[in-house]
Amino acid sequence: MGSFPSGIRHDYKDAPPAAAAKRLPRWPWLAAGVTMPLIAAVVLILVSTGSETAAVPEIDDLSRAADPVVFANTPQTGFEPRISDRDLSGDEIRMIVGRGDSLGQMFRRHDLSLGDLDEMVELSDAAYYLRMLNPGNEIIVAHQEGRVQSFEREIDDFKALRIVRTSDSFSAALIERPVENRVVGAHGIIERSLFLAAQDAGIADPVIMKMAEIFQWDIDFLKDVRAGDEFTVIYEEIWREGEKLKDGVILAAEFMNKGTPYRAARHTDRDGVVDYFTPEGRSVRKAFIRAPVDFTRISSTFDLARRHPVLNTIRAHRGVDYAAPTGTPVRAAGDGTVNFRGARNGFGNTVVVEHGGRITTLYAHLSRFGDIRVGSRVQQGQTIGYVGMTGLATGPHLHYEYQVNGVHRDPQTAVLASSEPVYLADEDLVAFQTAAASLWLQLDRHRPTQLRATATY
Ligand SMILES: [Zn+2]
Repeated sequence: MGSFPSGIRHDYKDAPPAAAAKRLPRWPWLAAGVTMPLIAAVVLILVSTGSETAAVPEIDDLSRAADPVVFANTPQTGFEPRISDRDLSGDEIRMIVGRGDSLGQMFRRHDLSLGDLDEMVELSDAAYYLRMLNPGNEIIVAHQEGRVQSFEREIDDFKALRIVRTSDSFSAALIERPVENRVVGAHGIIERSLFLAAQDAGIADPVIMKMAEIFQWDIDFLKDVRAGDEFTVIYEEIWREGEKLKDGVILAAEFMNKGTPYRAARHTDRDGVVDYFTPEGRSVRKAFIRAPVDFTRISSTFDLARRHPVLNTIRAHRGVDYAAPTGTPVRAAGDGTVNFRGARNGFGNTVVVEHGGRITTLYAHLSRFGDIRVGSRVQQGQTIGYVGMTGLATGPHLHYEYQVNGVHRDPQTAVLASSEPVYLADEDLVAFQTAAASLWLQLDRHRPTQLRATATY
C-alpha cells in the first residue's frame, strides 16, 4: 500500500508522506472526479446484435445478403425485399403513416380496394402488423386500378411485412430489409475529457460509452483517465440505401492509459455469447469493476476542466470518493450478497456487499437505496443505491471502500481480480485470433503513430 498512482486523488489517512509527496500536481479536471457516462456492463451484451466478428471483411466489402424470413405457415414468396422511396412506377403508391391513420383511411384516400384490405387482414400472420401502425412507417403498395398486387409495410430498420397476391388470395411474409454494415475507425487524444476527444474524432457518445464499458474492468474512467491518453475504436455503422441508420457494435478498441495500452476485440462464442477479449484471448471481465458509479446519467458533454475540485476534501476515511450528481446510480463492484443496508453515522445511508474471497465493498452517503435488502444477491453492475450526501459530506459523492479480510485496501491500486482470469478455450481461441488479426491491423492503421507497435498487451 506504499505507492499510489501519481495524480490520483487519494484520501487514505495512512498514506505515507513520501508517496504523497511524489504525487504529481492534480489535473484540475481529474479532481472533479465524475465525468463520464457508462452503461452497466449488462447493456453491453444486450445491445450487441449478435453479428459475428469472425471473418470481418475489409471496409469496402461489407454488404450482407438479405435473406427473407418467412412465416412457418406461409409459402415462400421468393420476392426480393424492395422497399424504396424512389423510382416508384405509376402503379406504386408510397404512403407514410400519419398520426391516427388507419389502413382503411389510407386505402380510401388512394382508391385502393377495401375488399383486398379485408382479405389481407384475414391473414393471421399479417393481421398484427396491419393493425399496429406507427406514425412514420412507410408503406408501399403496387396495384392495378386499385387492386392490390403487393404491399410492403416497414416494421423497423431491419424488417418489413410483405404481402403479395396469389392466384386466389394473398400470402404474407416477414422480410429482412437490406442493410449494409460498414466498418469505420477513429482515433482520439484526450486533452480535457474523453467525450470532447470523441467528438473531435467524430465518434458519437454511445460508441465512446461502449468503449468505456469494454475497458471498465481495467480502467477507472472517473479517476484514471489523463490528458494525453489515446483511444482507437473500430466499429460498425449500419447503412441502407446510402443513408446511415445508426452506429453498430464495436469490433475492436484500444485505450492507451498513462502509457499502458489496453486492447480488446469482440468475439461471439459457439453458444452465441458475446464478449471482448485481449489479443491473448483473455476475457476483459474481472471479479470487480474499477468504478462503482454509473456515469450514464451524467451529462456526456460537460467539460472536465470546468469541474470544481472542491469535493474530495473529506479527511480521515479509508476509501475513494467519486463526486457525482445526486441520484447517479451506484453499482455493485462485483457479484455478492448485501450484508448491510441502512444509516451508519457519518457515512449516512450505506450499503455493504460481501463478495467471495473475504472481500467486502462499502458504499456511503447514498441519497437512497436500490431495490435491495440485507441478504439480497447482487450482480456486478447492479444498482444498489444512488449518490447523495447523507451523513457527513460536503457535497454529493460516493464514498467507496474495499476491504480484504477486514483490512482496508485502496480500491484504486488493490489487485481487483480475485478470481482467475477467463481465457477462451482452445478451439474458440483459434477462431478468435484468426478473426481478430485483421482488427488489430485496423487498430494500428487508425493510429497516427506506430509508437506502440512493439508494446506488449
Ligand atoms: Zn469519502
